[in-house]
Amino acid sequence: MDILSAVSLPWLQGAQARLRSAHAAQRLPHSLLLLSMPGLGAEQLTNWITALALCESTGARPCGACASCLLLRSDSHPDSHVVRIEEDASQIKVDQVRGLIESLTLKSYRGGYKVGVIEGAELLNANGANAFLKTLEEPTANTVLVMIARPSHRLPATIASRCLRLSLSPPSTQDAIAWLKQRGGEGEHSWNAALGLAGGAPLLALELRTAGVADLDGDMRESLQQLAGGTVDVTLLAERWMKSSPGLRLTWLENWITQRVHAALGASDSGQSAEPVRLPAALLKPKIRALFELLDAARELRRLAVTGMNQQLALEALLLGGRTALGN
Ligand SMILES: [Zn+2]
Repeated sequence: MDILSAVSLPWLQGAQARLRSAHAAQRLPHSLLLLSMPGLGAEQLTNWITALALCESTGARPCGACASCLLLRSDSHPDSHVVRIEEDASQIKVDQVRGLIESLTLKSYRGGYKVGVIEGAELLNANGANAFLKTLEEPTANTVLVMIARPSHRLPATIASRCLRLSLSPPSTQDAIAWLKQRGGEGEHSWNAALGLAGGAPLLALELRTAGVADLDGDMRESLQQLAGGTVDVTLLAERWMKSSPGLRLTWLENWITQRVHAALGASDSGQSAEPVRLPAALLKPKIRALFELLDAARELRRLAVTGMNQQLALEALLLGGRTALGN
């Protein structure tokens, strides 16, 4: 694993400083919940935390060069255990969680900490969450548990309440663009588009730009215009979207609706806030209410992608229902 790349992500440096002093004071939390949307480097930060706990250097940690750090870098440290969703699965399996718990009950191989990580903790099913809860309630000595979850998903309160919560937030647009230019070259305009689509998350923006965001942006705008003008068959449109980059298109749609909501509410467009201000439905004008409903529908669609439900039918329903609101 790459244990030092988090160091070069400026928006994560505050979190690193906090954890470093906690570790120096021998008060590293037993269980940490990292709330992060994709593209902010939660995985990199988790690797760094693992290395902070396991590094055997007497100097600055993690050093990247001691025996423990070298084992981590070659993914063969016996005291580091990571669980993530298996390919083609829709949930983290309870057996994976049991395996992790079992490893953590063993004595530390190298005599220091043991670190257990669950990536995508929102994908734990009820059985998995229950199995893990016991470990959270009765942590074994010198064990650090780190869970990464999306902020929009609700973890069971029994789990979340037993963890120290760390919410990762995106840098300002200006800082993000400065960082992106260093990494991926000039071109402010296309970085703006990619960053907007990424909800302000720089690492995701970097990925998106290589995926041809500009083309997608144009195609999506054209599609919505056709939809509003009634010149496109909704079934065919939904089918086409589902065939090419459905995830990106849904993200685009969600961001686009969010911007519409901001504009309709008269809020200044920060360009990175993915969460419009929520007002009681009764106070909303019909147009804004329609946008909120669309936003919920778009999010529901993304959730369906995770559970493997029929997304195309749901998308058709969204496009049909939202025709008017999308067109304005
Ligand atoms: Zn080290």
